[in-house]
Amino acid sequence: MMSGISGDQRLYSYSAVLMGSPILLKLFSHDEALASRTFQLIKRYEDLFTVNRAHSEVMAINHAAGRHPVSVTRPVYQLIKCAKAASMVQESAFNLAIGPLVKLWRIGFNGHSVPAATDIAARLALTRPQDVILDDAAGSVFLARPGMEIDLGAIAKGYIADRVRDDLQRQGVDAALINLGGNVHTLGAWSIGLKKPFVADNALVGSIDVVGQSVVTSGIYERYFEQDGRRWHHILDPRTGYPLDNELESVTIVADDSLDGDIWTTLIFGLGVEKGCAALRHREDIEAIFVTKNRDIILSSQRRFRFHLLDDSYRLTDCTA
Ligand code: FAD
Ligand code: MG
Repeated sequence: MMSGISGDQRLYSYSAVLMGSPILLKLFSHDEALASRTFQLIKRYEDLFTVNRAHSEVMAINHAAGRHPVSVTRPVYQLIKCAKAASMVQESAFNLAIGPLVKLWRIGFNGHSVPAATDIAARLALTRPQDVILDDAAGSVFLARPGMEIDLGAIAKGYIADRVRDDLQRQGVDAALINLGGNVHTLGAWSIGLKKPFVADNALVGSIDVVGQSVVTSGIYERYFEQDGRRWHHILDPRTGYPLDNELESVTIVADDSLDGDIWTTLIFGLGVEKGCAALRHREDIEAIFVTKNRDIILSSQRRFRFHLLDDSYRLTDCTA
């Protein structure tokens, strides 16, 4: 995903690498202090949520799997509670307990390969979201079986993007954009580019005009590897333990909160276009842009954004088509 600005005010861009992702902050004033404050805020949350280092609050829960509950700070408890709720929705493709499979595949990390089917089956048994036991009073999380692991990779960037928005607002900023590597949040009016899947340059299939909305894109072209003549991407089907395989190449969710956007990109990936359209019919707060392998771009609705097609090899339609 890329971003630009309509109008000709002077724009200042600040970048960092956090959470293994390029982070971009855009402001209309030269303000190193604000940029540094923002990156520090992101880093503090990364330190709580990461499962890519030996120690974090989430890792403390994972290390105690099958042994004892772990009390955690409020943001960690709240985010896990929210992730569990998303995981318990009927036929949800979202699963916060997917950790053992993410660690087995290692997609996007060194040492990835297609695991043996028996290993996948063994790990599937350790990914039941109902085995994540929450205690509101104690603020603690207990993983019921040894070997279980929480992974917040599909939701933490959304949560953090919302906290950055809140903080910028508190600092009196009225126009800014934060991009956490696929999770974009905005204050004020912005035009956000939607990347063309599987091309090396920064070609765009379209642009999305929003005011103060979050724009979250999840795709099968960002983190994947090739083996046995196939692409294996990082959004796993919790029912099979293999990457989700359907007509979708990417899904973008436009919503007030990036947390919802992050959850819904995964839910929609699991549903596919037809069921995804049906699920959004009664959700005025969540809007989707589906990009398919057949080069269709399908809009669920266009209440809180305007979409402009920039590549005429794609067909623009909507959920009623
Ligand atoms: P999304 O589609 O939103 O999420 C996909 C990710 O969610 C997968 O990568 C996996 O982690 C997880 N997942 C897969 N299937 C499911 C499922 N069915 N249900 C729920 N979750 C699923 N990357 C690095 O390379 N190095 C790092 O050190 C590193 N540290 C990170 C620290 C934090 C706190 C976070 C949030 C991310 C970090 N990442 C790091 C990136 C991370 O590994 C994922 O690639 C990233 O979160 C994917 O986000 P997305 O928005 O692209 O995809
Ligand atoms: Mg997500």
